[in-house]
Amino acid sequence: MPAKLIDGKIISIELKKIIVKEAQEFYKTYSRKPSLAVVLVGKDPASAVYVKNKVLACSETGLLSRSYHLDKDTSQKELLELIRTLNADSTVDGILVQLPLPKSIDEKAVLAAIDPSKDVDGFSAYQTGKLMQGEDCLAPCTPTGCIHLIKSTGLDISGKHAVVVGRSNIVGKPVAMLLLKENATVTICHSKTKGLGTVCKKADILIAAVGVKGMIKADMVKKGAIIIDVGINRFDGKLFGDVDFEQCINKAGHITPVPGGVGPMTIAYLLSNTLKAAKMRMITK
Ligand code: NDP
Repeated sequence: MPAKLIDGKIISIELKKIIVKEAQEFYKTYSRKPSLAVVLVGKDPASAVYVKNKVLACSETGLLSRSYHLDKDTSQKELLELIRTLNADSTVDGILVQLPLPKSIDEKAVLAAIDPSKDVDGFSAYQTGKLMQGEDCLAPCTPTGCIHLIKSTGLDISGKHAVVVGRSNIVGKPVAMLLLKENATVTICHSKTKGLGTVCKKADILIAAVGVKGMIKADMVKKGAIIIDVGINRFDGKLFGDVDFEQCINKAGHITPVPGGVGPMTIAYLLSNTLKAAKMRMITK
């Protein structure tokens, strides 16, 4: 029997309905909408699409968004100046700087300049540290979306063996921390891992966050496993995941498609984090 599809589009719509209600409650209480500032430097087409989708998602759910489209030649100093202005602006709850930035700009310095309480991407050392300590925080959106998708299958994560392929600061490591918080036994793999297939085959939950089209094959998958495919690989104008979907659908128990799996959840959790940041800021005011 083929695997059940984990439909991120439908699941994210359900999550957005909750966000709409909570944004209305927020408006009733504080007479303003939660707001997100989105900063884009340059004209990378993929980044421009991501920003457009984020702005659209804000307006669909009753959040306010402001976008700042800066020229590709913007200096680091100018960008940091904008971040400082947004940090100081009490009407801004969340700040998102769309990555990647032009090579002339130090990404780490820019992310470090964002007020941690407005860091809705959850990439700052402060939010990462809280995540590491298992505390409530603004956790990165894609990893949080992955956990939501796993839970949507009804599986209890506790005690399961989760294998994460990829150890980036924005996906691999944080998703591993969130799985640990759910009491999974977690293995993290990367480009130097030996016997990757053998390790993956032990996974009850397999998360692929690599950026290599179709690298996870059926012979690397345990029968009945849950597969979460984070990968987004563009090929011939189409999107592909890191998992060989055609092969693995006949081996897994549940699987996410690409597109329509993790991607929509990432945007939904950006909205959720903006709302969370807004509430936190109003409570601690
Ligand atoms: P990075 O390039 O930062 O990290 C890739 C990771 O994969 C690294 O840890 C690398 O190992 C590991 N890796 C590379 N090749 C292999 C290999 N052959 N075997 C095992 N591990 C390998 O990517 P990201 O984490 O930023 O993104 C991963 C994928 O997820 C990309 O396709 C990206 O587009 C997508 N993505 C999707 C999102 C969504 O919303 N759906 C959001 C964010 C990302 P090492 O550390 O040793 O180099």
